[in-house]
Amino acid sequence: MNPRYSVVIAGGGPVGLALARLLEQRGCRTCLIARADTTGAFRPIALSHASFTLCQSLVPLVADSPIRTVEVSQHGQPGRTTMQASEHGLDALGYVIDLTTLSTALAHDMQPPAHIGSVTAWHPQASDIRVDWADPSGQVSSVDAQLLVLADGGHGMRAAREYDYHQQALVCSVKPERGHDGIAHEIFTADGPLALLPCGDRYAVVWTLPSAQAARMLGADEPTFLAALQNLAGDRHGRLSEPGPRQAQPLLRRQTRSQEARVLLIGNAAQTVHPVAGQGLNLGLRDALVLALQAAGQAHTDLGGAEFINRYERTRSFDRHVTVGLTDVLARVTRIGAGPGMTLPGLTRGLALTALQACPPARRFLARRMMLGARALP
Ligand SMILES: Cc1cc2nc3c(=O)[nH]c(=O)nc-3n(C[C@H](O)[C@H](O)[C@H](O)COP(=O)(O)OP(=O)(O)OC[C@H]3O[C@@H](n4cnc5c(N)ncnc54)[C@H](O)[C@@H]3O)c2cc1C
Repeated sequence: MNPRYSVVIAGGGPVGLALARLLEQRGCRTCLIARADTTGAFRPIALSHASFTLCQSLVPLVADSPIRTVEVSQHGQPGRTTMQASEHGLDALGYVIDLTTLSTALAHDMQPPAHIGSVTAWHPQASDIRVDWADPSGQVSSVDAQLLVLADGGHGMRAAREYDYHQQALVCSVKPERGHDGIAHEIFTADGPLALLPCGDRYAVVWTLPSAQAARMLGADEPTFLAALQNLAGDRHGRLSEPGPRQAQPLLRRQTRSQEARVLLIGNAAQTVHPVAGQGLNLGLRDALVLALQAAGQAHTDLGGAEFINRYERTRSFDRHVTVGLTDVLARVTRIGAGPGMTLPGLTRGLALTALQACPPARRFLARRMMLGARALP
């Protein structure tokens, strides 16, 4: 007889780990099946204030890189908007944390049973679902559950609505000559957005570039790389120096829903978004939180039943569609006519940024949605 759970989670990324802890807090019999990931490459994540507070309620996290101000501007074109934590009565709009640091903290001393391995197959039945998984030696075992939650980052081959941006996000860190004062910069450039995020005493760089250019910047020597970056970043914080190791990742937009009984998708498995507004993980954590809240105290409910799954999908639909849609629009329109030299789209965007700056209620409305999701009440 196989071990039996209410929920089996496939995937030990931050979303799967957070869900396992949230369900455990609510007394739901949960099993996590997670691969032993060893990449450890630096990947800065801007977590909203709400997401960071949620993670801090699960595990101790050091809030050493607060974002107190977000400044949005264009390279070589007019217009600027500044959002400040103080406008929301907060110390920080969010915090920057390395993805591996976050995942390691969430995995530490995990209480629900956790197996190191990969989910290889699942077999939905009338009253439960059998989940097969293989340990690193290839030995296959099975567990039974009411519900299988795929939090595998979309790495499993599933049909999805997919759009390839033909861009890569180049990630590294650099040292600014002057302090950053907790100011995060989002700079729209002709190639794509460039984010400079306060990270310790350095800036974490998330630089979106067409794939060929990203490859060139990955291979460029330090002076060439720094000169190109400095040209876009300007001299706001003095000379940028000491770049850390660089890596790049292709950018896709994906959206999918499970077509199978007793299977739910959350986090990047359900939707993968462009990093322009730093929304992917924030959205995935809201997926996990809503699922845990809806499962709480449902001892007599079949969590894998169509009624439970449909209610969950309905609840998440608005936030998901609006966040995926707005992120996509932002990723595309900010490139049109961008770059040095006045253009009509650049001037229009500049006017929009200036208008936003002149209208605090509109700015606060936008910032709240970035922090709390599309459903946030004004
Ligand atoms: C450059 C860049 C910058 C970003 N910046 C931000 C940001 O500032 N703010 C933000 O909110 N988001 C950001 N994101 C998005 C964020 O990184 C993702 O949304 C988040 O990591 C998704 O977490 P996840 O747990 O859903 O998936 P993943 O992190 O992909 O984790 C999935 C896990 O499942 C495992 N797995 C896969 N298949 C199986 C299987 N069959 N069985 C068991 N395990 C399996 C994988 O090995 C992995 O460990 C950024 C993304 C990029 C690319």
